[in-house]
Amino acid sequence: MSQLTDLTARRLAVAVADGQTSAVEATQAYLDAIASRDQAISAYNETFAERAIQQARSIDEARAKGAALGPLAGVPIAIKDNLATTFGRTTCSSKMLADFRAPYTATAVAKLEAAGAVILGKTNMDEFAMGSSTENSALGPTRNPWDTGRVPGGSSGGSAAAVAARLAAAAIGSDTGGSIRQPAAFCGVVGLKPTYGRVSRYGLVAYGSSLDQIGPMTRDVADAALLAGVIAGGDPRDSTCVDQSVPDYLASLETPIDGLRIGRPSEFFSEALDGEIAAAIEQACQVYRSLGATIVDVSLPHSRIDVDAKGQLSSYAVAAYYVVATAEASSNLARYDGVHYGHRTEDKVDDIVALYSRSRGEGFGDEVKRRIMLGTFALSSGYYDAYYNKALKVRRLIKNDFDTALTACDVLLAPVTPTPAFEFGEKTDDPLQMYLADVYTISANLAGLPALAIPAGLSAAGLPIGMQLIGPVFSEETLFRAAAMFEQAANLPDMKPPMIDESS
Ligand code: GLN
Repeated sequence: MSQLTDLTARRLAVAVADGQTSAVEATQAYLDAIASRDQAISAYNETFAERAIQQARSIDEARAKGAALGPLAGVPIAIKDNLATTFGRTTCSSKMLADFRAPYTATAVAKLEAAGAVILGKTNMDEFAMGSSTENSALGPTRNPWDTGRVPGGSSGGSAAAVAARLAAAAIGSDTGGSIRQPAAFCGVVGLKPTYGRVSRYGLVAYGSSLDQIGPMTRDVADAALLAGVIAGGDPRDSTCVDQSVPDYLASLETPIDGLRIGRPSEFFSEALDGEIAAAIEQACQVYRSLGATIVDVSLPHSRIDVDAKGQLSSYAVAAYYVVATAEASSNLARYDGVHYGHRTEDKVDDIVALYSRSRGEGFGDEVKRRIMLGTFALSSGYYDAYYNKALKVRRLIKNDFDTALTACDVLLAPVTPTPAFEFGEKTDDPLQMYLADVYTISANLAGLPALAIPAGLSAAGLPIGMQLIGPVFSEETLFRAAAMFEQAANLPDMKPPMIDESS
């Protein structure tokens, strides 16, 4: 058998179930990989070696007794550090929660464990999921396994890097404006942002509650389908989570879609898009045509991306998002005051207001403070209508565009990012440039639609290129099937970062 860490989650689950390997062997292989490679990558904030081996041992014992195994039995998985777990810490890569131990476990994590997954550890991220590079982590950045001088994307950069660098068989991330898909694209892995309401947010530390979704980050489409099937479904603990039956995503992959209609939003293929990414997506259209799909041109006028004479991008979607997301964040992050939650200043203070402001001043990083200030401003009396209400109207127009476009096609095919992974420090001086890393991903969150990022090839410099399929609400099954058609037919280069073989 090939290296255990090279197997996809699905193949590993089969190998464990068939007795070709054991859950303990698989878990140990990942713990060894983490010990030898994570120093160079920094994907993990914390690992649970002992607990993971114990979990694995109980899977092996269950198998020995002939007990029924879950669909992820013995599969080692990494969890973004903004999902609450009663074991270990839940830090959101923030000084504010540096020692926080959650009193309960997120539904998505509990479901993974119930399916037999082994939890390897918690992964690094931009502080409170605010960012696109992991450079906003209070614990230091994660490095892109394809080129350690470049960012892995963010905010779920640790999860993406862990999956790409074979430090986890699969991972869980969260996506508020692109935080699963953008790092997936930068690291050459698959990432799903589910329909809003498809996966319970119970135990996900809230950022923008009307936008946040938890989703899988995996080596291939089948793994994403497998994990999505495990974590999706109603949850009485999250009132926005829809109690609708979950299709067998994995089984449906076998059946290609006859007469698939793919919409290409013209606004997404402007001069704002890197030439190599545009070419890779054009190539993907050819692959789809060869499979009998038709490509239709559609329009998303309010998701247009303008480029000015200096090459600066601008977009209504990004503008609306940074009002809605920051407004929600300013409210969600009010609880971190050193009393209810989080870091408390050790300074002597005279009153409660000083205690709050010192604690918050010390506990939050610069970007989080910027978001809280922006959001508080947008919600303040006199500005609410001018900013917050206006952003909600733009959000509705963006959603309406998607609804209209999706009457002419089954799925939309779009870029994930304007460029492949950028270098450390390239965008840290200019927050707006960082925000624009999400021009292509934000609209799906504003519209509540599912979006699946998959690898589309490598650039001439050897960096991963991604593309995404976006569909109507609850069309995850269609997205997986359409993505699997491409994955099987495309003949892409091996999506394994060269550093892995060099290091082992
Ligand atoms: N980069 C975007 C932001 O900082 C998206 C983050 C996310 O999806 N969590 O808000």
